[in-house]
Amino acid sequence: MSTIKSLRLHIGIVGQTNAGKSTLLNTITRQNVSIVSMHPGTTTDPVEKTMELKPFGPVLFIDTAGYEDHSLMGQSRQKKTDTYVDRFDIAILVVDGVSSLEADKRIAQKLRERKIPFCICLANNSEVALKKEWLHWMKEEQIPYFLNNLLTSYEEFLSGMMDCLQSIIPSDWDPTPTMISDLTNPGDIVILVIPVDKEAPKNRIILPQQQAIRDLLDHSSITIVTGVSELATVLDCCKKTPALVVTDSQAFKEVFAIVPLHIPVTGFSILLARMKGDLPIFVHGVQAIQNLRSGDRVLILEACSHNPVCNDIGREQIPKGILHLTKQNIEFDVYSGHDFPDNLTDYKLIIHCGGCILNRKEIQHRIKTALHNNVPITNYGMVLSYLHGDLERALKILM
Ligand code: SF4
Repeated sequence: MSTIKSLRLHIGIVGQTNAGKSTLLNTITRQNVSIVSMHPGTTTDPVEKTMELKPFGPVLFIDTAGYEDHSLMGQSRQKKTDTYVDRFDIAILVVDGVSSLEADKRIAQKLRERKIPFCICLANNSEVALKKEWLHWMKEEQIPYFLNNLLTSYEEFLSGMMDCLQSIIPSDWDPTPTMISDLTNPGDIVILVIPVDKEAPKNRIILPQQQAIRDLLDHSSITIVTGVSELATVLDCCKKTPALVVTDSQAFKEVFAIVPLHIPVTGFSILLARMKGDLPIFVHGVQAIQNLRSGDRVLILEACSHNPVCNDIGREQIPKGILHLTKQNIEFDVYSGHDFPDNLTDYKLIIHCGGCILNRKEIQHRIKTALHNNVPITNYGMVLSYLHGDLERALKILM
């Protein structure tokens, strides 16, 4: 099975229209991944390409629509590119050395404001002489760069690009983030509770569950997967006391009631809060439930796009539980996929799903934006365990 997208290093390709971004992606992959033409604005929607790039491992290249596009659709394309930029771990700014230097500087500034480390690719076939101003700018601001033109061999191109990428990769980039294995020892028994109900996709298990299984297998833990109704029997069968039980959020209530108090229990989305989000911020955020009053709005962010089903966690279980606990007339808005509202000031609380399909960078960006707007943020697992009065127990093994 190939590495899931959300765990790949996200490398964005940005630049002015027609600078050579799609040509760069095609050169890197040695395939015609992106359509290339002389006409500005050929790439309208971002194009994604996964590949193995030694020594980084699995990466995701994202070729975006050009900035500084003054065509009729230009603004909406650039808005779309902006929403992708928040996912980039690093970026390559493609410049052709003949268009506007000021425009390239504006794009560089955009990346700096969003704290995205970047290098420059000097692309196309323009003469070196025409690039003097760019060379001066890159030198002055110490921006690493590499070449992609007809005079450069593939080997030279690749080695230049890899040196540049290596020099900008954040020191805290972790290609194999730990989800659960640091909480257990080799040989420990870990029980994963996976309810198979209407919300569960047919014939497969969802990403957080797959990730937990793989992480435990890699660290030689003994992993037992079970449904809720079989949990008590599984516990009875274990001669050795399990080191941990992890459950899907929606089964918190039953699972916490079944598992004896001396066995630690937590939830998949609480593990994801630690792995991709910010546990202390989410713990603080969940306390905002008690301050909600009639007329307040709560934003639910669900990274999966799926048809709402009966007893849906984000659309039904959480709103019902909050209304029941607070006895206030609170309103809920749901955004799914990568959609994120432009204005957060209307909200008194944000509740995010575990976000397993989003990369850490995007979740971190959402947290920062929430905090910048003084809106508390938390996630599904935190809220459901709080509503059932089990939050303290669910967090015990993590704190
Ligand atoms: S993206 Fe969110 S809703 Fe979808 S499976 Fe992952 S945690 Fe659940």
